[in-house]
Amino acid sequence: MLGIYIHIPFCERKCNYCAFSSFVMSDKEKEKYVDFLLEEIRTFARERNEKQKVDTIFFGGGTPSLLPSIMIADILKEIKKNFEVIEDAEVTIECNPNSLTEDKLKVYKDAGINRISIGVQSLNDEDLKFIGRLHDREGAIKAIQLAKRYFENVSCDMLIGLKNMDEEELASEIEILTQLGITHISTYMLQIEKGTVLAEMVKNEPALLPDDDESVGAYEKVVSFLAKKGFVRYEVSNFAKEGFECKHNLKYWSGEDYVGFGSAAHSFVGGQRYSSAAGLSDYYAHKKDLIETITTKEKIEEHIMLGLRCKNGISKSFLKDNGYDINENPYLKDFISRQILTLSNDDDRLFLNPSYYGVNNYIIACLLPE
Ligand code: SF4
Repeated sequence: MLGIYIHIPFCERKCNYCAFSSFVMSDKEKEKYVDFLLEEIRTFARERNEKQKVDTIFFGGGTPSLLPSIMIADILKEIKKNFEVIEDAEVTIECNPNSLTEDKLKVYKDAGINRISIGVQSLNDEDLKFIGRLHDREGAIKAIQLAKRYFENVSCDMLIGLKNMDEEELASEIEILTQLGITHISTYMLQIEKGTVLAEMVKNEPALLPDDDESVGAYEKVVSFLAKKGFVRYEVSNFAKEGFECKHNLKYWSGEDYVGFGSAAHSFVGGQRYSSAAGLSDYYAHKKDLIETITTKEKIEEHIMLGLRCKNGISKSFLKDNGYDINENPYLKDFISRQILTLSNDDDRLFLNPSYYGVNNYIIACLLPE
């Protein structure tokens, strides 16, 4: 089944570390954007003979919760008109704590949204200020509490690699988040992206951030704290209570079809990968930044690269059907005997032992076909 991604590229202000495609925009510009996006949805559906079945929808950004909630409801209505959205489809919206209100949550619920993903990033006020977020610790906690009143499935994004995240702070933040009842957590290492305010700040004063060893140590702590709280690491950066894995993101990692609407949105449909232009004027001119047809070799490589980052692993038979017999790989036996890789009972699936996630790039490189 198809997944749908909707990109909402608006933010109230640019965060210091952010290199995503997002802009500060007037209400009029938002309306123009949504009108164009609705037409994009209709055009995609018109070009197909029959309504495609959809089992996941994901509003990402940017800050989708900045858009008037009625516009989110309108977009969902248009999707339902043009696609066959199955009854228990997972429908997610990304929200920032400062733009999430009770009224919006009610509209989301009525429109069919059933999963809220909140950009918490940290519960430390000093760190939040440092990375330029608009909310503080209290605002983040209130947003989660509010979301939990209306939704069971609430996820949080957290950044690792901030100055104040020592072991004690991490343990206390995870304790709070789990007590608030979140069902899913995505953790990302803070990256210093070129051209961001943070890159400038750190260039002048590197000690503003912990060194790499400290950040990796912090990450390992997060993994063990979350495991103690019953969160399963189902992808290198993603943890969920049983049954709450993000189905939409799983599509990206397992090579299933998804279509993206909106500027900078990526699609992978029928073996073709493309993305809409990130700049709004190019997007309105229907420009696609990249169009490529995936070769069999790329299909094999992606299966290995993405699969070994996930709990579900990779399939030997899938690889063989595409012309790669991984049993002939010179490293495989050694990786299995050293329990770096484990094998499923039916001898088909290979899983990377989570203790080796930190060096997954090396293992993946060894397993790729020549
Ligand atoms: S809210 Fe998210 S997308 Fe917007 S500026 Fe901050 S990090 Fe970037």
